[in-house]
Amino acid sequence: MFEHVTDDIEKLIVRFPGGMGEVNCYLIKGESGYTVIDTGTYANESIDLWETVLESGVLVEKVVLTHTHQDHIGLARWFQESIGVPVFTSKLGYMEMLKARNFKNKKEKLDSLIKRHGGTGIPKRLDNDAFIYDFEPDGFFEENDNIQLGNDFYEVIWVPGHAPDQYIFYQRDKKILIVGDHILKDISPVIGLWLGEESNLLKEYYDSLEKMTQFPAVIALPGHGPEITNLEARVQDIKDKHDYRLEQILEHITDQGKTANELSKEIYASLNMSVFISPFMATLTRLIYLESLGEIHRVEKNGLICFSR
Ligand SMILES: [Zn+2]
Repeated sequence: MFEHVTDDIEKLIVRFPGGMGEVNCYLIKGESGYTVIDTGTYANESIDLWETVLESGVLVEKVVLTHTHQDHIGLARWFQESIGVPVFTSKLGYMEMLKARNFKNKKEKLDSLIKRHGGTGIPKRLDNDAFIYDFEPDGFFEENDNIQLGNDFYEVIWVPGHAPDQYIFYQRDKKILIVGDHILKDISPVIGLWLGEESNLLKEYYDSLEKMTQFPAVIALPGHGPEITNLEARVQDIKDKHDYRLEQILEHITDQGKTANELSKEIYASLNMSVFISPFMATLTRLIYLESLGEIHRVEKNGLICFSR
C-alpha cells in the first residue's frame, strides 16, 4: 500500500472519484505512531483505503493538514470522530474552514464572482461539502512554529497562493520539504478564488515561490504526483509558465475589453468544457495580477467586468 519515500516517510496515494482523482498522503514515522499529512477527499473509496491501512496495524498519532482544500481535509473529521485521532490545522486554515461551513454563502459568492466576470455561474452539480469542515481541530500551528511530525521537528512556512492557507513543512537537517499543493512536479498548481472573494492571489503566489530559495531541499513531497528532486529548477519552470500565460493574456486583450470568461475560453480553447472552472480561475487571478501592475484596467459594461489595456 505504501511507497517508501525516505527512511521514515511513507506515501499513500488515496484515490477517489472526481476532482484531481487522487491525493498524496504522507505518513511520517514516530515513536507514538505515524503523523499523517493530509487525508484525501471524503469518499467511500478513500475511507475504504484508510480502513485497510488501519486494520493492517498502522498506528496513527495525529493528522496535520497542509491546507484546507477538500481533497486534503476531506477525511480529517472522520479521523477525529471515527478513529479518535487528533487533527492539527493552521490558524488561517481554521478561518477558511469557518467560511466553508456556510455552503450557501460560499456558493452564492462563487456564483456571483463567476457571473460578474462573464461566466454562466457555478456548475449545477456542486456537492455540498460543508460537513467536512464542521469540526473543531485539536490544535493549531502558524508560521515560524516548529511542529513535530513523526520524530522530527519541521519549520512551518506560510506560502499563500494556491490557497490562502497553504503551509509547507521543512526539515532543515534532512533537507526534506513537504510542499502540499504549493509546487507540483508535472502541473502548475491552479491559483483560484474558490471562496468567491477577489484578491491578488497570484501576487502572493509569486512571492511564495520567491521564498523557496531559503529552503534548499534534496526532496520535496507534493500533494499530487511524483516527488520533486530539482526544486529550484521546478520553481523557475512554474514562474516561466505563469509569465508566458500573462504575456498571452496581454496579447488577447483589446481596447474594447474582454471578460475573464471570454479570455479563458480563447486561451484554453483546446480544453474540455467540463473542466472550465479551473482555467477561468487561473485567467481571473492573472487578470487581477496584471491590473495590480497597472498593465490593464477594468471597466464595467452592463454589469459585466471587462479588462482592457
Ligand atoms: Zn490538492
